[in-house]
Amino acid sequence: MSIEENLTEIRGAIARAAREANRDPAAVTLVAVSKTFDAAAIRPALAAGQRVFGENRVQEAAGKWPGLRLERPNIELHLIGPLQSNKAREAVAMFDVIHTVDRDRIAAALAAEIASQGRSVRLLVQVNTGEERQKAGVLPTEAVAFVARCRAAHGLAIEGLMCIPPVGEPPAPHFALLDELAAEAGVVCRSMGMSADFEGAIRHGATHVRIGSALFGHRGSPEEH
Ligand SMILES: *Cc1c(COP(=O)(O)O)cnc(C)c1O
Repeated sequence: MSIEENLTEIRGAIARAAREANRDPAAVTLVAVSKTFDAAAIRPALAAGQRVFGENRVQEAAGKWPGLRLERPNIELHLIGPLQSNKAREAVAMFDVIHTVDRDRIAAALAAEIASQGRSVRLLVQVNTGEERQKAGVLPTEAVAFVARCRAAHGLAIEGLMCIPPVGEPPAPHFALLDELAAEAGVVCRSMGMSADFEGAIRHGATHVRIGSALFGHRGSPEEH
C-alpha cells in the first residue's frame, strides 16, 4: 500500500470511529508521526494533503522540516517526545504544538522562550497514566495541580493532556483516565491513540491521534523510537 492509500484508509477509520462515538470527525486531528523517516518518505504524505506531523526529537526534526516547510505551506509540527530544557529555544522556534510538558523546569524554560521569541506555541501536559518508572510524564494524581501551576506560576495556557499507555496492557483504562483528568483540569485536548489503538482512543474522547507505522510503515529500531 502507498502512503496515500494508507492515509485514505486511516482518515476513513478515524471518521468511522468518531461517528460511532457520536462525535464530529472534524474534532479528531490526525498527527502523522514521521520520526525516523526522511524528507523523501514524508513528501508523499504532504502531496496527499497531510499537514499535521509529529516528531519525537528536536534535533531530528531540525534536519528535515525547515526544508520541507519551504516546499509546502501551512505545515503544523507537533513535538511528541521528551523535551530537555536546553532544547526549549529550538523547540519553541520549530514546533507549533508541544505534547510533553511534564515538569516545572520545562514549563519555566518554555515560558521564557515563548516570551522572548514572541511565538505562540500550543502546550499539552504528558501524563504517565501507567505510573511507569522509566516513562516521562506527571503522575495522574499530580496532573490537575500541575496544569494549574503551569497557568499560575508560569503563565502558560495548557490546552490538553497526552498519554502513552504501557506496552502490553489494554489501553482503554488509560484513555479513560486521561479523559477524566482532562475534564477535571478543564482542558480540551486529549492526545492519545497510536497505530494499534487509535479507534479505542477516539471512543474515549481523543482529539489528537498520533499515527506513525500504520501510515509510513515499520521503523528501523523500535527500542530507540
Ligand atoms: C512513535 C510514537 C507514536 C506513533 O506510534 P505508531 O505505533 O507507529 O503509530 C505515537 N506517539 C508517540 C509519543 C511516539 O513516540
